[in-house]
Amino acid sequence: MTNENSYDAIIIGAGVIGVAIGYELSKAGRRTLNIDKLPAAGYGSTSNSCAIIRFSYSTYDGVAMAWEGQHYWVNWRDYLGGDVDERGLIDFVQCGTALLKKSGGHSHHEKVVPLLTELDIPFEDWDLDTLLDRLPALNGSEFGPPKRPDDDEFWADPTEQLLGAVWTPDAGYISDPQLSTHNLQRACESVGGEFVFNTEVTAINQTEHRVTGVTLSTGETISAPVVVNVAGPHSFVVNRMAGLEGTMNISTKALRHEVHHVASPEGVNYGSTGCHVQDGDTGIYFRPESGDNILIGSEDPDCDPQEWIEDPDNYDTEVSHAQWEAQVLRLARRMPDLGVPNVKRGVVDLYDVADDWIPIYDKTDLGGFYVAIGTSGNQYKNAGVAAAAMAELIDAVESGHDHDAEPVVHIGRYTGLEIDMSSFSRNRAINPNSSFSVNG
Ligand SMILES: Cc1cc2nc3c(=O)[nH]c(=O)nc-3n(C[C@H](O)[C@H](O)[C@H](O)COP(=O)(O)OP(=O)(O)OC[C@H]3O[C@@H](n4cnc5c(N)ncnc54)[C@H](O)[C@@H]3O)c2cc1C
Repeated sequence: MTNENSYDAIIIGAGVIGVAIGYELSKAGRRTLNIDKLPAAGYGSTSNSCAIIRFSYSTYDGVAMAWEGQHYWVNWRDYLGGDVDERGLIDFVQCGTALLKKSGGHSHHEKVVPLLTELDIPFEDWDLDTLLDRLPALNGSEFGPPKRPDDDEFWADPTEQLLGAVWTPDAGYISDPQLSTHNLQRACESVGGEFVFNTEVTAINQTEHRVTGVTLSTGETISAPVVVNVAGPHSFVVNRMAGLEGTMNISTKALRHEVHHVASPEGVNYGSTGCHVQDGDTGIYFRPESGDNILIGSEDPDCDPQEWIEDPDNYDTEVSHAQWEAQVLRLARRMPDLGVPNVKRGVVDLYDVADDWIPIYDKTDLGGFYVAIGTSGNQYKNAGVAAAAMAELIDAVESGHDHDAEPVVHIGRYTGLEIDMSSFSRNRAINPNSSFSVNG
């Protein structure tokens, strides 16, 4: 930290989105400080992200953001300004996404295909034969709607077949989300951004409806005319500190989530040859994982209990038997040769969920205080574009623009797409087009 204890902007949080915002604001000439209570960048929920880069959202702006966001990963070295990190840069593994098509209506692909078409995002419409030809390890039956293994119907003989899949070849995943955040930190530092770790923000200082800075757990005060809440699952705690609880139409809260890892079936080599599959029929998604493993995540089906967390510093971080069994057996239905191991492997972390599972990228009613929150388990992929849009929004508002009355429209730096930031407003009505799940 500099001696003056004064910055142009303080960013609370050094996860992938917080650091990307620090980078964009620093590039634009602001003196920034990212503060994080953990020991290094990307050690919060970012570190356990599945880091899947896909475009299968339910709304136009969700898909547009994701498509623009993907280009940051494709152009990662240029975006960072070169080989800035002594630890090396991440790999974007472009294995593609197969979004399975269910019969009988209410299949997520019905929302996604018109949006991919409208936005000119490359995709192929596979019938069932093509799906099974491309992914021979899969069973093409329909098992849905999603159930838990203790439901008698879980093992019922299927009567219907999937219709096929929507294939987006440009999708994939990032090899190491924590390293990607370290890459961003180095890029941010190369343009003057500063970081302080192992330091908690305990108060948001303000006078006459404007933020003036923050107080740290050490008792030290740091001043800045701009403070950005990018605290991930702690976002509601930081908003409460700022006195903003109840001032927004859309609120955020922390949801516990489990991700599991299993070995690829013998001879399948899914870890090196597989792709990302969204299987709304069984309620999971899965993708290749290093060491010939498969990572299994949840699509938040209605039958699964939701564990909302009151205190994001205190929750059960052990993989539970019930959720392990549910997700692994769901994959075993889709991939019949999968062995079901006795030893549970996986990670547990928190989503920062907004009421409609769409993020909030906005100003607030406290002058100079901004939020990039409510990322709902699906915004890792958008770190670059979200940060660019936030920097533009902050610049506009600090220059006197009334973003509430005339919302900023961000023009994607890679795709030229127009992204209307009112879609991510704190005061929007709940978006009825949302899937109310990780699919946004
Ligand atoms: C299990 C899981 C799987 C996911 N999978 C995907 C995926 O496949 N694709 C995708 O696009 N997205 C995914 N996501 C979502 C994505 O990872 C997040 O949206 C993203 O990482 C959020 O980044 P962030 O910078 O906002 O927050 P975080 O990474 O959570 O960072 C917030 C930081 O703020 C710090 N902090 C909080 N309070 C304070 C305080 N008072 N003082 C100082 N520091 C503070 C924390 O220590 C933390 O480091 C997933 C998330 C989870 C949990």
